[in-house]
Amino acid sequence: MAVDKEKIKEHIRGILLAIGEDPDREGLRETPDRVARMYEEVFAGISYTNDEIAAMFNKTFEAPKDRNKNDIVLVKDIEAFSYCEHHMAIMYDMNISVAYIPRDRVIGLSKIVRIADMVTRRLQLQERIGADIADVMEKATGSPDIAVIIEAKHSCVTARGIKNRESSTFTTTFKGVFNEEKMQEKLLMMMKK
Ligand SMILES: [Zn+2]
Repeated sequence: MAVDKEKIKEHIRGILLAIGEDPDREGLRETPDRVARMYEEVFAGISYTNDEIAAMFNKTFEAPKDRNKNDIVLVKDIEAFSYCEHHMAIMYDMNISVAYIPRDRVIGLSKIVRIADMVTRRLQLQERIGADIADVMEKATGSPDIAVIIEAKHSCVTARGIKNRESSTFTTTFKGVFNEEKMQEKLLMMMKK
């Protein structure tokens, strides 16, 4: 289902009233509409299942024949942001690395970035962003060997409550041969370059 912008406008106006604001003052008059348009953009991924995202970005090419069977493809430093499902607060300075071991087909590299971008456009947990990217990658490439490493700051930690400004969270999602220690070492070496 597409985002219902009229409903969002109505509710944001209600929130403004509830926090003691005047939604009709000049600076806020257009805010419900702006928030609705922002939500449409940043939550676009909610309208699609992982299967649908995989079908959108599954452009693949024949893999080189003389490939070593454990050769890793790594796309690192994908910049992203998302919103945590517990506070609807932004997760920012997000850095995502996605690795996989191609079978018969290799996926277009820009598609990996697009997959990461689309699954972050949901109300998320950092742990689930990794799981979703791995799931979509597996569906799009046909490879069960996937690794996703994510670092991010959570504004619900840095800007409220405990206000731990510099803390960031790392998560890993390892599937297939990436559960083996020697493959994780190889991957970490590549990421340090
Ligand atoms: Zn949160």
